[in-house]
Amino acid sequence: MSFPGRIQERTINTSFEGLGLRAELLRAVAEQGYTQPTPIQLQAIPVILQGRDVLGAAQTGTGKTAGFALPILELLARKPAPRAVRVLILTPTRELAAQVHEDTRTYGRHVNFRSTLVYGGVGMQPQVDALRRGVDILVATPGRLLDHSRQKTVDLSHVEILVLDEADRMLDMGFIHDIRRVLALLPRERQNLLFSATFSDEIRALAGSFLRHPATVEVARRNTPAELVAQVAHAAEREVKRALLAHLVKTGDWQQVLVFCKTKHGANRLAAQLLRDGIEADAIHGNKSQNARTRALKNFKAGELRVLVATDIAARGLDIEELPHVVNYDLPHVPEDYVHRIGRTGRAGASGEAVSLVAAEERPLLAAIERLMGRKVEMRAVEGFDARAVVREPQPRPAQPNPQQRAPHRTQSHKPAPPHHRPQHPKPRTHPQAHAPKQPPQRSNPDAQPQLQVPEPVPGYRPLTAHSMPQKVPALLGGNRQRKH
Ligand code: AMP
Repeated sequence: MSFPGRIQERTINTSFEGLGLRAELLRAVAEQGYTQPTPIQLQAIPVILQGRDVLGAAQTGTGKTAGFALPILELLARKPAPRAVRVLILTPTRELAAQVHEDTRTYGRHVNFRSTLVYGGVGMQPQVDALRRGVDILVATPGRLLDHSRQKTVDLSHVEILVLDEADRMLDMGFIHDIRRVLALLPRERQNLLFSATFSDEIRALAGSFLRHPATVEVARRNTPAELVAQVAHAAEREVKRALLAHLVKTGDWQQVLVFCKTKHGANRLAAQLLRDGIEADAIHGNKSQNARTRALKNFKAGELRVLVATDIAARGLDIEELPHVVNYDLPHVPEDYVHRIGRTGRAGASGEAVSLVAAEERPLLAAIERLMGRKVEMRAVEGFDARAVVREPQPRPAQPNPQQRAPHRTQSHKPAPPHHRPQHPKPRTHPQAHAPKQPPQRSNPDAQPQLQVPEPVPGYRPLTAHSMPQKVPALLGGNRQRKH
């Protein structure tokens, strides 16, 4: 990203000492086992300590929470004041709020401050009581915070530092008006920190409206997913997705898989089906009680649940260390969500794999994602699963075969797939364009009459034989339609 005034990544200072944090904070950091600051921490901590506004381009998983929590705790400790809400941290979801709150308490365990958490879906009264006792740091979701403000159970007139965490998600979730209402309740003189994984024009407009000469800190280029994440896609129609997912989990011996579904209902159904397949699974989404969500997350983190099926909103901000597998069971309609989703894996230096199951009607969505990332996602065939069964396409003309037009996977050839399509172990890739196919994508003739190719006893799924093994799957899926919801 080329923001003016961007702060270059430091390469000389690679320790927490010397960043300006007091011994109590350094001790807490050491107790967490952190030996070196992450790049976002190296960049953000000094400028926050200078009192500057910050525009942070960082995904979850980069260590950004410590990047803002540590200097905030330092600033509070440097300037003791009567107990009042001096720091307000706004997050889009309850899970992220809980996570940020917990992290802040961890980093601040040796300094004197009070904090509390305010979010919807649970009773107001315990929050009212905690606020009445007095807090220095308040972590909140916007809606519930405004409820408290209306009931005059929170006083935001002493806020010195505002943090908007995952601001892009807040806008996606329609919180812009709530954010503006909250901003109106704060003192004009304050320090503002805005973090976002992606930078749409709306985010820039929001940032421009209240950040004053912000220092820009960043760890990833604009809209790029974590580079450590290997990305792969499998063509799979809706009817085959569940069997394919169960197959991948079992044969790959995947032990911790976060699966994204479009709808709450779909997430529930998939979790139940996976359970019937003998895979420990649970769903997490907005209709579940906070207790059920917390329990599912705890079990997942503890390794008792192999698969956690989530909607985008519920999964937002989940901090699960070194999550090895993320599956896009449904592709997101907003391409930026893909970036958020795969940011769940490959965190803090660990490599991960993001797998997308792509039905024919989702191909335009994949194309939009690829355009956003400026890279292709490799399509890979899965042995034993034949995407052809439900792919509609024209019949090849047997009389005058034209190799340029013939649908590649109808070719009955024993030749191995070209190297870029051959199944291989995922590995980090910095220049994925190098893996793009050399030839143009092969598409069906749009004028031809669609035909269902192979009737299946189990719709959409049948084992491959040597004769039916797809020779290759076009990597470029075509279609430029970009749907918004
Ligand atoms: P975050 O991006 O704040 O959600 O942090 C992602 C993960 O990185 C969390 O599990 C943190 O505990 C971890 N983390 C944060 N800072 C460091 C660090 N300096 N070294 C190692 N791990 C870290």
